[in-house]
Amino acid sequence: MWTPAKRVARKRRLVRKKAQLFALLGDSCAICGSTQELSVDHIDGREWGVAAREVSQETRINLYLLEAANGVRLRTLCKKHNSGYRAYRSVA
Ligand SMILES: [Zn+2]
Repeated sequence: MWTPAKRVARKRRLVRKKAQLFALLGDSCAICGSTQELSVDHIDGREWGVAAREVSQETRINLYLLEAANGVRLRTLCKKHNSGYRAYRSVA
């Protein structure tokens, strides 16, 4: 049964995993050093595809942690620089 207590536990787990991920990759933007609205960028430009955008935040964080453990090159970027990178790549 889904209870508020479970929801709180899930949220706490998510916060902890997020902290773990950014502790691993760096907790500020690799370009400007911002610590606001951070996201993870694939340095080699690898994408998961459309389906990956529909998964939950927790699943995404798990995937990033798995990739980092498997030597996939990831870096932390703020939202602004991550979307800029994407736009740049799409016209290249
Ligand atoms: Zn930035």
